Amino acid sequence: MDLKKCTNCGQIFAAAKGQKICPDCLAEEEAKFERVKDYLWDHPGATIPQVSEATDVGEAIIKKFVREGRLVEVQGSNIKVECQKCGKPISQGKFCSECSNELANDIQKSKSKKKKNKSKRNKQEKMFTRD
Ligand SMILES: [Zn+2]
Ligand SMILES: [Zn+2]
Repeated sequence: MDLKKCTNCGQIFAAAKGQKICPDCLAEEEAKFERVKDYLWDHPGATIPQVSEATDVGEAIIKKFVREGRLVEVQGSNIKVECQKCGKPISQGKFCSECSNELANDIQKSKSKKKKNKSKRNKQEKMFTRD
């Protein structure tokens, strides 16, 4: 357990591993997630702005859920976010499969080139290079 500052409300809290927001915000986010998911079950073709308006959940938060892969279980959902590299629509993660592969190759290359300066590991890279 670590003491961390909530990235959402700034409150200091005891964080479990990987936890970035406090229990209050987490509960609120879960409630929002349920609303978004319920709405999508009923309206699978809805776009992010439509879902946002109907559920009163910000588009940024909905996109976060999508990127985390939490909405892929909703059958027939039309919700997509953009690949952060080429802008292609993707249903989860940060990059499309082509860009993930490219990035993975780049990482491999730069690793083998210079091992010294890369002591800091980027967790997110590890999480999203798989497709
Ligand atoms: Zn908070
Ligand atoms: Zn891409």
